[in-house]
Amino acid sequence: MEGTVTKIRSVLCEVNAAGRAYECQARGRLVESDTGESKPVAVGDHVVFTPTEEGEGIVEEVGPRSTKLSRRSPRDPRIEHVIVANVDQLLIVASVRRPPLTPGIIDRYVIAGEAGGIEPVVCINKLDLAKDESEYVDVAQIYREMDYAVLLTSATERTGLDALKDVLRDKSTVLAGHSGVGKSALLNAIQPGLRLRTGPVREKGRHTTTSVSLLTLDIGGYVVDTPGIREFTLWEIEKRDVSQFFPRIWELSADCRMPDCLHTHEPGCAVKEAVEAGELPPDRYDSYVRIVETTEEHRVPRETDVEEPTEQIARAKRTPSRRKRRQDLRRIARRDLEDLEDDESE
Ligand code: GDP
Ligand code: ZN
Repeated sequence: MEGTVTKIRSVLCEVNAAGRAYECQARGRLVESDTGESKPVAVGDHVVFTPTEEGEGIVEEVGPRSTKLSRRSPRDPRIEHVIVANVDQLLIVASVRRPPLTPGIIDRYVIAGEAGGIEPVVCINKLDLAKDESEYVDVAQIYREMDYAVLLTSATERTGLDALKDVLRDKSTVLAGHSGVGKSALLNAIQPGLRLRTGPVREKGRHTTTSVSLLTLDIGGYVVDTPGIREFTLWEIEKRDVSQFFPRIWELSADCRMPDCLHTHEPGCAVKEAVEAGELPPDRYDSYVRIVETTEEHRVPRETDVEEPTEQIARAKRTPSRRKRRQDLRRIARRDLEDLEDDESE
């Protein structure tokens, strides 16, 4: 039978097929992944499975993924952990206060979404807690300038919910954002009873079972609710690629002295000079640096890198369209996948 994975709980997954739920185990070879992934079955995966007993089954095969949201495994940075597959968009939820609004985490998710082919949408919630709009307009502007949709909501005062519904309708969406920003409250506000969070389950004192589940919307489409991911180390992105997601930094870097300037410690860095001169907001720069610092180098330079000397691109060409940036990322992601395959065959 064919079905869609709606939930993962340690080694078991729930598969929905023809309106029925099956609790499935993956075949050994799927668990012993040959793709470098720590969890080879992800929510949203299309799978082929064999029903065994009443309501149970075994996953035989995982279909190709059109999109994916991944992170590095916290246990082994060489391992990719696919959090969710085959979704259209990534709704990045942040709150004005409690917890405070930090673009850093939004940037991380934007890059993760782009890297996996998932359209990022930013949602700033808890507008009712803002003393005035200066607390969030600048952040909203950052992402609007990057051509992303930005929603402004208050789950408690029920503002911005129609726009949120318009974004979610008939689409598959993965929710991301720190815990406490109001993801559950927003879901419940658009569809009462949709998400009754019970919180992470603690087993044996320390091991936390993280379950991800897929929720069907009455308005059409579905939402995948992930547990808040704090340590979000990016997968498939290299340090030198990060600047492409910061259009202003990308533009400025044309004037850096070092051809491979990462804008962290290099001499003659136009980006750092712009920060000092007040031309680049320090929080944008800090967010960039934090991401670069936590992005691990995981491959050796290849000859093909020389063919595309990005640092020699003229300033005029340094404002790539979002489509272009996305294409570049896909290329990077593919290249890395090929590398992985190369490594495996050695
Ligand atoms: P989640 O962890 O992202 O799912 O966050 P929750 O939905 O559980 O919300 C965390 C807390 O924030 C709860 O106490 C909610 O009542 C509160 N909350 C959620 N949305 C809003 C909002 O728009 N305004 C205010 N003031 N509180 C909110
Ligand atoms: Zn520089």
